[in-house]
Amino acid sequence: MSDQAIRVLDPTVANQIAAGEVVERPAAVIKELLENSLDAGATRVTVDFSRGGKALMIVEDDGKGMAPDEALLSLERHATSKIRLAADLDRIATFGFRGEALPSIASVARFTLQTRPAAAANGVEILVNGGKVIHRRDHGMAPGTRIEVANLFHPVPARLKFLKSDETEAAHIVRLVRLYAVAHPGVGFLLREDGRELFRSPGKAPLLERVREIWGKQVAAELTLMPAFERPGMKVSGLLGHPGVSRATRQDLVTVVNGRPVDSRTMAFALTESYHTLIPKGRYPLAFIFLELDPAWVDVNVHPAKREVRFRDEARVRGFLIESVLAVLRSQLAADPERTPLAMPSFAPAFVPPVPAPGESSAPTVPGSPAPSSPETPASASPEAPAPLRLGWRLLARLREERAVFETPTGVAILDLGAAHQRVLYEAILARFTEGRPVSQPLLVPLTLELEPLPAAVLKERHSLLTAAGFEFEEYGRNFWRIAALPVWLDPADALVFLRDLLTEMARREGDFGRPALAYDALAKLAVARARRKGDALADGELLALAEALFRTAQPATCPKGRRTFVEWSDADLGRRFG
Ligand code: ADP
Ligand code: MG
Repeated sequence: MSDQAIRVLDPTVANQIAAGEVVERPAAVIKELLENSLDAGATRVTVDFSRGGKALMIVEDDGKGMAPDEALLSLERHATSKIRLAADLDRIATFGFRGEALPSIASVARFTLQTRPAAAANGVEILVNGGKVIHRRDHGMAPGTRIEVANLFHPVPARLKFLKSDETEAAHIVRLVRLYAVAHPGVGFLLREDGRELFRSPGKAPLLERVREIWGKQVAAELTLMPAFERPGMKVSGLLGHPGVSRATRQDLVTVVNGRPVDSRTMAFALTESYHTLIPKGRYPLAFIFLELDPAWVDVNVHPAKREVRFRDEARVRGFLIESVLAVLRSQLAADPERTPLAMPSFAPAFVPPVPAPGESSAPTVPGSPAPSSPETPASASPEAPAPLRLGWRLLARLREERAVFETPTGVAILDLGAAHQRVLYEAILARFTEGRPVSQPLLVPLTLELEPLPAAVLKERHSLLTAAGFEFEEYGRNFWRIAALPVWLDPADALVFLRDLLTEMARREGDFGRPALAYDALAKLAVARARRKGDALADGELLALAEALFRTAQPATCPKGRRTFVEWSDADLGRRFG
């Protein structure tokens, strides 16, 4: 017991523990280094990395640099030049202030700091490996700072296991650097992977041009300039997506507060609210929003690895944003009445007749059917002409469009058209996946898809899965893909939006898509949720066929999300009710 006495942690161990919070992945290291460069007043920043940052990351700036003794001190825990007193915490204008990043990073990698203030004749180089200073010597260089981080997490191998593939880690780095570059239009950025230039943006261009340099042509073409709007203590400007342009996630809803790329529920909500009638429900607009306000009105003293920001007066910020964005959207719509908002994106073509699973043994029990005693199995039927299943139902009426009332041989049933249609569609799509039948339709004119790095990495990682599902594609330039074939159930007109959504969904739920069964299930659910034809768009003449198709599925009682597809009363039930 006596060897369990309380002791102060060895500084290296303390730093490695802090590193667990500050740097969870390579992109987090780049974030800390970039923020330091921007805090140091850099006008040019170059970021290099290789193997997703696991092997090497370098951030180089032309900022104010550090004198040799400052450089050594910067590697001490809680050494910062940015705040002195607790009271300063209320008006932080810089990114850093904890003085934790450099010592943390240096404790879990091979870390080389080279730095020189403009006033000094020479620079200094300090090499630290796993928290131990290896050498410190003079170093000839231009004014500024260059930090090299090699072999991240080698001193703490347990952490290595948590890193994702090189491609996924690289995608996080690219996304991060893009965010910071767009948030600092005045600073020149260069990003390279293995010496290959990913983007370069000199930092003098107008915002739209800047976004084109950093995010690509396709995104830039969907944006309009938002002029500055002001209120006492607040100012907003940026770029707004055209009405009708939408995304499945908040990925392309970029929000910058006082030069800091942030996540803000309030801002995302305000934007989504403003576009509310212009984009489909559940989707997000595309926008780059720059909000400036008194630092005292923003709370940044949150978790170091998180980007979530809070405002002292959320309602005021929200109101201001909604008003400003609506003003732009209104004038856009007024100027271009032709631009009608797009309807709900829609995916699967009409109603696909389901295929009975081969060798299906237990025929689903059909409510109100005259007892399943005659096993004429429909298993030999071809998919084009499913064997008629004699349900013996008769359509009586349609209830408020979305339901239908049937007389059954033994009572009355009410079918929920949406839920039933989704079940039928879902199993039809799933059957195509699992049976491995030819599922592709070649495209006469291949489609071109430009992807964000993260979805692009997913596309590569899940190549075989998507091929098995009927997609055929090849990369022809970084993040550019040519799509030559689609699954038969996917309408080519909807393919790009569907793929974008699918890939962002896959990136969000990395684990689920590792196993084909789960992946197919998720794919089918997504396809069904976005189906072009909703159940309630079926004509009366199609309703009986829908009911029959429903009872050929494996689980006729519920839709893929678990909602009931029908309710039923037997004649006996009804008799009792009439007493
Ligand atoms: P923080 O940013 O919270 O102050 P860091 O550990 O990130 O803590 O950095 C420690 C100190 O090192 C900073 O306060 C700053 O004085 C100095 N520093 C770090 N990076 C640079 C840089 N690129 N240029 C100039 N000074 C830097
Ligand atoms: Mg810092």
